Amino acid sequence: MKKYITLLLLQLSISFAASAQWNNDQLCGTALPNNDHLDYLERINASYDLGMERVSNDRINIPVKFHIVTDFSGNRYDYNTMLTVLCELNEQFKTAGMYFFMRGEVNNITSNFYFNHTSFSTGTQLMLEHNQPRVVNIYFVNLGQIGLCGYAYYPGSGPGNTISQGGVMMSIPCSQAGNTTLAHELGHYFALPHTFDFTSNNPRDVFAERVTRNNNETLPRLNANCGSQGDRFCDTPADYIGFRWNCNSFAVNDSDINNDRFQPDASYFMSYSSDFCMTRFSNQQINAMRSTLATNQSSRGYLTVFPIPAWDSIQGPVTLIEPMAGSEPQPANWVFFRWRKAPGATRYFVRIRRNNLPVTEFITSDTVHLYTLPLLQANLTYTYTVRPYNHAYTCVGPSQTGTFTTTTAYGTSVNDLEPTQIQVYPSLYENGQPFFIRHPEVQLKSMAIYDLQGRQKHSQALEAQGELQQIQLPFLPAAMYHVRIETEQGPVFRRIVVQ
Ligand SMILES: [Zn+2]
Repeated sequence: MKKYITLLLLQLSISFAASAQWNNDQLCGTALPNNDHLDYLERINASYDLGMERVSNDRINIPVKFHIVTDFSGNRYDYNTMLTVLCELNEQFKTAGMYFFMRGEVNNITSNFYFNHTSFSTGTQLMLEHNQPRVVNIYFVNLGQIGLCGYAYYPGSGPGNTISQGGVMMSIPCSQAGNTTLAHELGHYFALPHTFDFTSNNPRDVFAERVTRNNNETLPRLNANCGSQGDRFCDTPADYIGFRWNCNSFAVNDSDINNDRFQPDASYFMSYSSDFCMTRFSNQQINAMRSTLATNQSSRGYLTVFPIPAWDSIQGPVTLIEPMAGSEPQPANWVFFRWRKAPGATRYFVRIRRNNLPVTEFITSDTVHLYTLPLLQANLTYTYTVRPYNHAYTCVGPSQTGTFTTTTAYGTSVNDLEPTQIQVYPSLYENGQPFFIRHPEVQLKSMAIYDLQGRQKHSQALEAQGELQQIQLPFLPAAMYHVRIETEQGPVFRRIVVQ
């Protein structure tokens, strides 16, 4: 028997992402690395200089746990966007050979307090309460009040204990498709400083990272210091810009202590350039991140203890089957959805909208879903999409948009007067199974099955005894059907879905 489970059910008001009160010029709140951490980076770079460019070339699979916080008004990070962003993240880390996948389902947290961060201590409490072990814990919240796009903790720092320590806190406006903040924060999480750290405060200082890479300069020029100052990486040019800057804007202009003009590289995720400028990590940065993950003894090695489950890519998008535009109106609390299987998908994200605004959404592992909640209204037109994914592959987009109309909700009409104790099951029926009618307080006479066009598909007499009738139904094509049961008190109507 097919599993039919609704894994997650979300009531939406207006998606926070639609709000325009923010911009993504806001900064990152990650602290400067401490001396121990800088020593760590210098040791890694020393090995790199000895020719250990990479600890290995294997893809490192990294489990993540997404935590979506919702406030009491329903403001929250959009699940559909999250799937897109995970797909983009794996593109951004492709050259690094690092691949992120979801371990388990999204953790949904409803809390005004945790949604609206008033200080870092809000995030500390959130991580202490919700961090899970052996995953990268990533939270989506409102950081508007503290003016941040996101922040992360370096290995060995942050709330929590060793295998569930720290994590990444993301603002919703900086977590949209096309953004790079998540890649940037994960860079921090895997030990990378900003390219401008220790230089931007005073670019002409003797301790600022110098532009030169020459170790044999002639006085009064000073030698290269890229391995011991700044971000400690010599393959990222000295960067002095500690604010958001546009790679296409006028040439930035400042000079170091040698009077060499800085030429920071806007393409690095660890700079503060605009999102659309950023495309990559440097080879040394990649080496540092991979070293941080490489073995159980590495500071983030605990993330890679368990192997990634075997998930394939997905053949999609999904083709919708029903409801279809022009079909009979559906009772508002009894809408039957069906779509074609997308090979490789283990989950389907279904989003129902009205006038392009989200109404409700759900996730199911099956290709049929009987919607029975009271969130849809009668006599309206809705649209819906179905997006297939699995925990490692989220790159297939939603289906084409389907349309359906609703009629009076089932069970709220005069039919309420009918004996309610009569049950039919399974209401999700598979051909060949036995079918039951339970009728503890009323005797039955006969039953018949009709399709949605009113054509009779089956009828039979029933025995006027007992409380449970077992019935062998003929083969029925997958669809929804009406069941009419004649009782000694009059007819009763039920519905079944044949998968
Ligand atoms: Zn940062």
